[in-house]
Amino acid sequence: MTAIKVLLTGANGFIGSHILDALLRHGLQVTAVVRSELKATQVRRDFPATEDQLNFVIVPDISAPGAYTKILKADPSVQYIIHTASPLNYSLGKTVEDFVNPAVRGTREILEAAAQYGCNVQRVVVTGSFAAIGNPEDMQGGGKVYTSQDWNPVTAEKLDARNPRLAYWFSKTLAERAAWAFMDECKRSFDLVVLNPPMVYGPLRHTVESLEELNVTTYNIWRDFLNASPDHPLPHEWVHADIDVRDLAETHYNALFSQAASNKRYLVTRGRICNQEIADILRETIPELRDRVPVGEPGVSSLPRDAFDVDGGAAMEDLQLTVRPAADTFRDLGKQLLLLEAKCLSEHWA
Ligand code: NDP
Repeated sequence: MTAIKVLLTGANGFIGSHILDALLRHGLQVTAVVRSELKATQVRRDFPATEDQLNFVIVPDISAPGAYTKILKADPSVQYIIHTASPLNYSLGKTVEDFVNPAVRGTREILEAAAQYGCNVQRVVVTGSFAAIGNPEDMQGGGKVYTSQDWNPVTAEKLDARNPRLAYWFSKTLAERAAWAFMDECKRSFDLVVLNPPMVYGPLRHTVESLEELNVTTYNIWRDFLNASPDHPLPHEWVHADIDVRDLAETHYNALFSQAASNKRYLVTRGRICNQEIADILRETIPELRDRVPVGEPGVSSLPRDAFDVDGGAAMEDLQLTVRPAADTFRDLGKQLLLLEAKCLSEHWA
């Protein structure tokens, strides 16, 4: 029997690597899309699968017209597409267009190519974000419970060149809206599922050589919790809801085949998490971190009483989302970050 074939964009990223891991573990064939040969070599090193199971295509610019045309024209056996590639590095100096263009054009390009040339494509799963659901201007929320029915209301007039985070939120909202608009307007034979996780945490599946190479959310855990001290204040609460990256990856796999998920969007989360809880877990589960992680007020929630909540129930039902405890997520991540630090230090002194 021929294996099911999946085209995966952003395969070298934090989340993309875990999705690749899940797809290969489940015996699927994967065409991994990355931006350069160098990135393909790095992924190959982390996933020594046979060429039958894992092959690579290079797309240097996902927003270029026809970015995916050649791939789908050349390989009509692709049945599923998972699109995770999108910029989210908020480093200073980034413009709104640096986020919006690749997010929106990249999403449209892959849907257009699938509609035109993906004669066997049955479903496209897009990695969206809570950024397309929550209201970034009211992150406390007045007791609101977010579900997948909610949309980020921010419009272009609110954008500010000094706030790349808002530009990222806007880009994810526009990209998802563009995807649904495409599905309404265009003739195609596949359906769409969008997975919208809030903060995604957990150990890396891919190799990084330095702290600077970490994806943004992981780097922030290192900066705010490990590169701190017990009397440091806890970091500002931003999005106080999360999911473990391994559970999110498995949910991407499940989303390929769930009948109930056809043409739906999902908030994929295990629920609320506060920075006090993250600090408590790191201090309790990793003794080496006790004199580094902010103490705060152990056991006392750092969230205001009316902090917003999130409901991941639909994903649990339709996508068999199962969630591991936050203690596993932050223990595994914290230990890995310590190993990475040690490796960087030994290389520095070598
Ligand atoms: P990473 O930065 O680790 O991965 C992003 C991936 O997208 C990389 O493969 C990157 O390629 C690719 N990419 C970024 N910009 C471009 C571009 N302009 N052209 C082509 N490829 C590009 O981040 P994550 O794994 O965390 O994010 C993956 C997805 O998950 C994104 O869609 C993000 O919005 C979403 N998400 C992430 C959350 C989180 O907490 N991490 C939360 C919610 C959603 P390269 O390495 O070559 O730059």
